[in-house]
Amino acid sequence: MSNPTPEQLTDWDRRYVWHAFTQMAEYEPLIFERGDGCTLVDIHGRQYLDGVSSLWCNLHGHRHPVLDAAIRQQLEKVAHTTLLGASNSTTIKLAKRLVDLTPHPLNHVFFSDSGATAVEVALKMAFQYWRQCNPPRPEKNRFVALTGAYHGDTLGDVSVGGVEQYRRMFGPLLFDVLRVPAPDVSRLPPGVGAADAAAHCLKDVEDVLREHHRSLAAFVMEPLIQGAAGIVMQPDGYLCGVRELTRQYNCLMIADEVAVGMGRTGTLLACQQEHVVPDLLCLAKGLTGGYLPLAATLTSDAVYEAFLGPHSEGRTFFHGHTYGGNPLAAAVALATLDVLQQEKSLESLPSKTDRLGKHMERLAQHGHVRDARCRGLIGRVELVKDKRSDIPYDASLRMGAKVCRAALDYGVWLRPLGDVIVVMPPLVVSMDQLDRIMQTVARAIDRVTRDDARDC
Ligand SMILES: *Cc1c(COP(=O)(O)O)cnc(C)c1O
Repeated sequence: MSNPTPEQLTDWDRRYVWHAFTQMAEYEPLIFERGDGCTLVDIHGRQYLDGVSSLWCNLHGHRHPVLDAAIRQQLEKVAHTTLLGASNSTTIKLAKRLVDLTPHPLNHVFFSDSGATAVEVALKMAFQYWRQCNPPRPEKNRFVALTGAYHGDTLGDVSVGGVEQYRRMFGPLLFDVLRVPAPDVSRLPPGVGAADAAAHCLKDVEDVLREHHRSLAAFVMEPLIQGAAGIVMQPDGYLCGVRELTRQYNCLMIADEVAVGMGRTGTLLACQQEHVVPDLLCLAKGLTGGYLPLAATLTSDAVYEAFLGPHSEGRTFFHGHTYGGNPLAAAVALATLDVLQQEKSLESLPSKTDRLGKHMERLAQHGHVRDARCRGLIGRVELVKDKRSDIPYDASLRMGAKVCRAALDYGVWLRPLGDVIVVMPPLVVSMDQLDRIMQTVARAIDRVTRDDARDC
């Protein structure tokens, strides 16, 4: 078959590819062909800065020589063998590396292939744990989660998830979950300041745990920042407060670090910033540097040991994914961790965070920006119609999408979450590229909010 033309690709993309989280009736094809570092090139030869890390997963840039070589080397050995009752030397090395990098007692790694499966695995493990611990507590079978939480798109994940838009359609299929209002540093109630924010928000956690702990299996949360909720940031001390309360009330803690893990917030794990060790830890997205699908659910010794016994006792975890722990993906995950150390990616992050923060401070002054801030290399710019009265834009205006569309015209690829512009470039982004991304965000906001004023 001869190479299709850009027009054919555009036509086939519309016709045959059903895109995730996309209204296909309105889909505007954006078709990448190549990448290098933080730059992507589309089929027309147009260049874009990758301001979303190809959906929050690219860390070291596209076509990184060390990552590329790791996959080639693994291909010389074998592309795939299964973890169902067998193993692979590369996957074993990754498990050991992850255990070494994460705090004790997270000493066991269950591999799967996406963030959704990593959390689904954690939920099922937590549930089964209480049926098999000594003494068994089968009545501890419910989960607590935050409003606005996002943990993936399987039915279990959507059940604990708190984004109404994603839940609405599937309500009858979901299990019941206890819900705690998510803390949000940009929406603290009147009279609550930064210093007492955590304590204030932790009261909601304690209320639920005190009342329901006898029936609780686990508290599941995204540490420090809730991603899909709109990059919602938690006050300092909240995360460790949740850990203390879950310990006190004998409830497992599941940390979903699918988005915030792998250096995004400035430390390898977000939990490290508040010296928190969860009982179950979920990693995906950045785990392979944004190269291949791979996920890991790490568990404590206590959780792991509850599943041990003769086969006949029925303690086995009957769950698995065909490609979980795939050796090619494991090889590039190992290389991702190597590069993180070799290129001192985390050491160079504070200066980039500072620079991004300066841009955010400036943007926060804009008449149609309600809130702009960042943590590590995760930034948010929230648009608002009327800043003084805090009146949002009508959702049907799709202001966030319009701003990102405008940014694309200026050569920066961004994706919104409602009216929040998410800024999440690869960790390897240069200062110049950061400046360009943020100047583009400002310019795009100017253009779109001006057009909007003219419409009114
Ligand atoms: C993206 C995400 C997931 C789901 O990961 P997939 O690989 O898309 O299935 C789960 N939890 C969080 C916090 C995420 O950001």
